[in-house]
Amino acid sequence: MNKAAAELTRMLGSERVLWEAEHLATYGFDGTPRLYAEAGCVVLPNTTAEVSQVVRYAAQNKVPVVARGSGTGLSGGSVPVHGCIVLCLVKMDRVLELDQKNLTIHVESGVVTQKITELADAAGLLYPPDPGSMKISTIGGNVAENSGGLRGLKYGVTRDYVMGLETVLANGEPVSLGNKCVKDVAGYSMKDVFIGSEGTLGIITKVLLQLVPKPRAKKTLLATFSQMDAAAETVSAIIAAKIIPCTLEFLDRITMKCVEEYAHVGLPLDAEAILLMETDGHPVVVEEEAQQMAEIARNHGAMAVQLAQSEEEAIHLTTARRVAFSALARVSPTTILEDATVPRSELANMIRFIQQTAAKYDVTVGTFGHMGDGNLHPTFLTNEKNAAEMARVEKAMEEIFDRAVNLGGTITGEHGVGLAKKTFLPNAIGDASLGLMRQLKRTLDPDNLLNPGKIFD
Ligand SMILES: Cc1cc2nc3c(=O)[nH]c(=O)nc-3n(C[C@H](O)[C@H](O)[C@H](O)COP(=O)(O)OP(=O)(O)OC[C@H]3O[C@@H](n4cnc5c(N)ncnc54)[C@H](O)[C@@H]3O)c2cc1C
Repeated sequence: MNKAAAELTRMLGSERVLWEAEHLATYGFDGTPRLYAEAGCVVLPNTTAEVSQVVRYAAQNKVPVVARGSGTGLSGGSVPVHGCIVLCLVKMDRVLELDQKNLTIHVESGVVTQKITELADAAGLLYPPDPGSMKISTIGGNVAENSGGLRGLKYGVTRDYVMGLETVLANGEPVSLGNKCVKDVAGYSMKDVFIGSEGTLGIITKVLLQLVPKPRAKKTLLATFSQMDAAAETVSAIIAAKIIPCTLEFLDRITMKCVEEYAHVGLPLDAEAILLMETDGHPVVVEEEAQQMAEIARNHGAMAVQLAQSEEEAIHLTTARRVAFSALARVSPTTILEDATVPRSELANMIRFIQQTAAKYDVTVGTFGHMGDGNLHPTFLTNEKNAAEMARVEKAMEEIFDRAVNLGGTITGEHGVGLAKKTFLPNAIGDASLGLMRQLKRTLDPDNLLNPGKIFD
């Protein structure tokens, strides 16, 4: 047992601290392939006061601290810094209040996202952010990554629902930021500084979230296209028709093939793309918008448009998108899921470029994603043990991120920078923005102890 593990065990009790090799191994990685490091110990605090104690100890002894939720991150954010304290928040999973008068829910940061959705649903409300990992991800992880989901186009991302936060600062002091007021302009919006900060500025311990009324109706459609451009043009035409669907997702041919082999949904394998479209709201508006979207898809050359006639049929149609990542992940030993994002107008351009780049470097890439948001998931199906192929994957990825930035887009729409994308960050945001970020980090964490080396060195 190292010194930090021994001290923290003495302070918090042996049930809160893991230090044996077999435990450290399981906390050595997240959902990102090829990244692994061993922590000095893992602490599972039960209260904000315990988080404070750990961070204070770390500050006094200059030991790095890496916050962790469920470890589903896709940019290496919760991968330990060698010898650090991993502060895993999953035991802080209490729901503190569901306030039906103010439409808010107050939870500890280790609550699993799906639980929030279920509690909101039971109260006739909706918590809109729905990352694909919501069955296991924590709300603290969602806030730290500012996660998005399938409903992002209409409802926005995690940031849009965070009204307040409790966070423990680098010196161990807890601060409470934000409140239940819909309007509050008293000074800087400090909670926003911590949203998307990837555990580098503070440890989030509590989150106050806004809920919205549950839409009364929803319609689901699936359109099939023989040309990718036609699918992209359909997306633009739907938005131009002033319809904001709650879901506008797509799958390319490689992804469809993998989904079909995995889930047997009945997708046409001669198609180039499918679009999954959903509209929700007042029943009359939903009916009208669904018909309009079907017509727009047909007018843009859809080979077929299916409109779900029942809840079961809707679930069946959405399966293709819901299982896309799992279907791709079983094809090869290593799956690298990226999230290059471009303005919607550049979607067809970007998708074509991804396909050409995959062919140029002789690598397999299935692309799916949130077409309505311009957020694409080019997914590399590869083998990390094949060094020559990995070198080609790296080159292809570099070109894809470069192109996304040149088209006015970004290197990550929802997975964060972490370790995986920090080399691409300077090119994506420029020196001035990077300088401001560094200044903020130095101010809030002068000894660089909170998740050091993530986002930037
Ligand atoms: C199958 C799959 C599907 C996914 N789908 C989506 C998707 O649709 N949309 C999307 O945005 N992402 C998606 N992700 C990525 C990932 O699930 C999200 O980033 C999620 O928010 C991570 O939550 P987590 O609890 O697992 O956090 P972790 O992976 O443990 O941590 C993520 C980051 O947050 C920091 N962190 C965690 N908890 C705290 C805290 N309490 N305080 C401060 N910092 C903290 C960590 O240090 C790390 O930098 C997906 C991942 C997988 C594996």
